Amino acid sequence: MIRYALICHDCEAEFEAWFASSEAYDDQSKRGLVTCAACNSASVGKQIMAPAVSGTKRSARSNANSELAEKVAAAARQHVAENFDYVGRDFASEARAMYYGDAEERPIWGATTAEEAKALKEEGVPAAPLPEPFTPPRPREPDESLN
Ligand SMILES: [Zn+2]
Repeated sequence: MIRYALICHDCEAEFEAWFASSEAYDDQSKRGLVTCAACNSASVGKQIMAPAVSGTKRSARSNANSELAEKVAAAARQHVAENFDYVGRDFASEARAMYYGDAEERPIWGATTAEEAKALKEEGVPAAPLPEPFTPPRPREPDESLN
């Protein structure tokens, strides 16, 4: 069995039909037996199929994209790990202290709850969510290192 996408040249209806073989289609078509499903016209032909996009090319490109994204993410993780102090769950209070001049400004990263993040934003404390791929492995929590 073979399936053809057909188009009616009279009413431009598009439809599909099954044939035993491509020869069977040619034979039935010549004898006017292939008719439009909508208007019954015998002026029906095979639709010209759009060429399929090569799957290998497309995946090669997306692999290149994800490799680049991973390189960027790795660089970002390294930058954060090397230049930012990890303050763990004290992030909100540390960021607030720096903003209000109670602590010396330095780049920090850490964890907040969604509520804390919202409060910081409302107070105008500059803080931004760190996308997961840019998050370096979490160092020990400051209180854990005391053990
Ligand atoms: Zn038709």
